[in-house]
Amino acid sequence: MSAAQQTIQVGGEWRPAVSGATRDIIDPVDADVFAVVSEGGVADTDDAVAAARAAFDDGVWPRTPVAERAALLRRVAALLERDREKIGALESRDAGKTLEEGRVDVDCVRDAFVYFADLVMNESGGRVVDAGNDEIHSVVVHEPVGVCALITPWNYPLLQASWKIAPALAAGNTFVVKPSEITPLSTVALIGLLMEAGLPQGAANIVTGAGDTVGARLAEHPDVDLVSFTGGLASGTKVARAAADTVKKVALELGGKNPNVVFADACATDEGFDTAVDQALNAAFIHSGQVCSAGSRLIVEESLRERFVAELARRAERIRLGRGTDPGVECGPLVSARQLARTEDYVASALAEGAVLRAGGERPDGPGYFYRPTVLDRCDRRMRVVREEVFGPVLTVETFRTEDEAVTLANDTEYGLAGAVWTADAGRARRVAGRLRHGTIWINDFHPYLPQAEWGGFGKSGTGRELGPTGLAEYREAKHIYQNLAPRPVRWFAG
Ligand code: NAD
Repeated sequence: MSAAQQTIQVGGEWRPAVSGATRDIIDPVDADVFAVVSEGGVADTDDAVAAARAAFDDGVWPRTPVAERAALLRRVAALLERDREKIGALESRDAGKTLEEGRVDVDCVRDAFVYFADLVMNESGGRVVDAGNDEIHSVVVHEPVGVCALITPWNYPLLQASWKIAPALAAGNTFVVKPSEITPLSTVALIGLLMEAGLPQGAANIVTGAGDTVGARLAEHPDVDLVSFTGGLASGTKVARAAADTVKKVALELGGKNPNVVFADACATDEGFDTAVDQALNAAFIHSGQVCSAGSRLIVEESLRERFVAELARRAERIRLGRGTDPGVECGPLVSARQLARTEDYVASALAEGAVLRAGGERPDGPGYFYRPTVLDRCDRRMRVVREEVFGPVLTVETFRTEDEAVTLANDTEYGLAGAVWTADAGRARRVAGRLRHGTIWINDFHPYLPQAEWGGFGKSGTGRELGPTGLAEYREAKHIYQNLAPRPVRWFAG
């Protein structure tokens, strides 16, 4: 076990928690402690917010020319490339993902920094409004919001942090980030890279610690102007409530219960069938299903069900579990004992409600928080496992007979993050995509996202968007400047 690392940074200085508290970081593969970090509290949070406030109100970052801000973001991207192996391995160990997934995450983080650098460099810098009078000059400009509180989850620790940090900095804000207490290490490393790239002290601060102390304090803090939260529905609603008293801007990226709709015509050829099954596996089981956009609800045309589910179950049973850095391993463990227990509970409740187990449904022998990829057939939308987000390797199967029924099923969720439709009929694909109430729709694909396209949810999957131009706009206030070039009395009042 390593000595305690100082993982709180306030105003450019790394330090331990004011209370001296620490937290063990657990390797989910064997449940061993592999790092010890500072466990911040309210006092650390207040210090970090004060540093971010001073850096915003009196510091240089919000007043730094956009070209220099963009150049800094590009330097961070280059440093991420330099440290790809190191940070990818850290993410793999901390979050229990394969090394290759860890590397891909670092590449995606790099791409987010490059995207937002390019975006701010290509803006016009304000919109002139025609006031209908040559003596009026009217322009709308976009300014940074101020101090941003960025709260992130454990499944994609660095990626989710970068979708907030890169646009927040590109827009000229300062911030305090609070990574998940389970997986803080890669975000700590990223703050180090921001400093190395030359970000002024106080512009980026990090407090490692628990949600109900550090996170809750950030959400309610009067000196925080915006809180951007990614995590579960229960914590997200608490954040929104805590933020309400100070009327700060709130962006929530919450959970999902994402339908993967497969029409029989998509599987008319062997190649089509193989692709749809393969992608359904990937949709549900990558990162052991701990993905907000996991395709955890397979909604398949009734005539195709038996053949599709049999092949899916056969391939699910063959997924190789293990330590993400070991050769040949395809899937890691769940992130924690809690997440494992939650998954077991959902599977037990599904079986009690009449689901039919076709694959998995148990933990393998040995240490760590592993759970076998699980396929539950003959599910229906009244079951808890179909309605609630499991966040584990559990795929439920429902069936439909008509296009209308497929759409009704796919929209019957309180969430609305993402969904997919598989069909060989281009007209049907666009029709169904148009009717699905989810923030991202894939047609004949699952999971890809683009930094230049907005990401976020309908319904209880959240408010606001990350990525794309909207992902930058979240970190800005619009200001209308109306200049009268020839002022004279208006004579509204006669006296
Ligand atoms: P979580 O809600 O338990 O925790 C998320 C973060 O919020 C953590 O940093 C946690 O410490 C903090 N937190 C907890 N309680 C808080 C409170 N009262 N006030 C302020 N902060 C608090 O979520 P998790 O288990 O870490 O992550 C899994 C969830 O995240 C899933 O629901 C998943 O769908 C969601 N998620 C969504 C997206 C998206 O883009 N929509 C992406 C990734 C994950």
